[in-house]
Amino acid sequence: MSQAVIIDGKAVAARERARIAGDVAALRRQWNLWPGLAVILVGDDAPSEIYVRNKLRATAAVGMRSFEHRLAANTSQHELEKLVHRLNDDDAVHGILVQLPLPGPLDEDAAIAAVDPRKDVDGLHVHNVGKLMLGRDTLIPCAPLACLVLLREQFGALDGAQALVVGRSNLVGKPVAQLLLRENCTVTVAHSRTRDLAAEARRADIVVTAVGHARCLRGDWIKPGATVIDVGINRVEQEGRTRLEGDVCFAEAVERAGAITPVPGGVGPVTIAMLLRNTVTAACQQGGVPDLGPR
Ligand code: NAP
Repeated sequence: MSQAVIIDGKAVAARERARIAGDVAALRRQWNLWPGLAVILVGDDAPSEIYVRNKLRATAAVGMRSFEHRLAANTSQHELEKLVHRLNDDDAVHGILVQLPLPGPLDEDAAIAAVDPRKDVDGLHVHNVGKLMLGRDTLIPCAPLACLVLLREQFGALDGAQALVVGRSNLVGKPVAQLLLRENCTVTVAHSRTRDLAAEARRADIVVTAVGHARCLRGDWIKPGATVIDVGINRVEQEGRTRLEGDVCFAEAVERAGAITPVPGGVGPVTIAMLLRNTVTAACQQGGVPDLGPR
């Protein structure tokens, strides 16, 4: 069997960013609307620092405004929520992202609940989660939206496909399952208690993994010709160096799948582009302007 097509997330992300940059320019020119994203980083978690830096860089590169708010690790819940409320009331800010995880005693659910749902560009507010569940238009979490963009790129319509989602987190697994259902896939959701993951994978035309364990899906579990979207980001130590790997054993799966995302360079870059897209969508809604982006 021939090798899988390697889905180029960097190229898809570049194309999305170019579209978003065009939309931002048009919004500023025609509507005097300048989309702005505020990012709150609490503490000094090293991976979060990198994620925030990348998000702010991407925001500036498409011509949007960005507002960075750094709070000390010992910030109180009250202080954090006071900042969120101030940003809720700031007309220059259309999207608010509270970088997770929050340190120690801070309550993530309460922090997310404090964000105005119209500015919840992470799509994690209970209001937006509920709308997604009901199949209504809403702000959708960025990594699940990235999976959908990559699958549409590969398939066009997903109608009737047998899809397996591995992982059931609120951040990735559950919203991916909802989105695939909305696209008329037949969806199975697997998790750590699933009895025979290999058997579930062997039936799937589409496998989306969001587990967080390197190589927990073997290549011979993949149905020949299936499409594999690997959301996992795992740090693997090898010969004194740290590498990033997905959840799927890529070297094996590439021999059986029809198409597969690499890690890095697959879902990750598209996820950041979707954050920008959500910010434009939020800005259009708040500015009373028709959304220029694709639905
Ligand atoms: P999470 O909250 O830890 O959820 C992991 C899920 O995997 C859980 O539902 C868990 O099942 C399931 N699981 C664990 N071990 C399993 C196994 N052996 N077989 C089947 N299922 C298993 O993680 P998350 O926030 O969803 O993130 C998942 C991964 O995606 C992480 O590597 C994260 O870094 C990555 N991620 C990437 C992006 C991106 O842009 N590329 C964005 C977000 C997250 P239970 O529910 O039964 O415990």
